[in-house]
Amino acid sequence: MNEQQQMVSGLSCIVCGKQSVERFLDLGATALANKFLTKEELSKPEAKYPLRVGYCHTCGHVQLTEEVPPSAMFEVTAVEVWPWRGSMRL
Ligand SMILES: [Zn+2]
Repeated sequence: MNEQQQMVSGLSCIVCGKQSVERFLDLGATALANKFLTKEELSKPEAKYPLRVGYCHTCGHVQLTEEVPPSAMFEVTAVEVWPWRGSMRL
């Protein structure tokens, strides 16, 4: 196991609950996808969150290993709702 394939200890899979999630991708601090900034927000620093992805060796689920606050992902404006799903199944 090299530095890039660091096993995340104490992290449970969000699907099966087993502690067998291995991080395989770290994209660093990343702005939220589909979070369109208002004209006023363009002059301020944009919020960024760690974007790290792990693989569960028990059930095969691929998931984020860092949780983004729900309030940051599910902002409701007058015209739109933009959810950011934290996982996908292969
Ligand atoms: Zn699992």
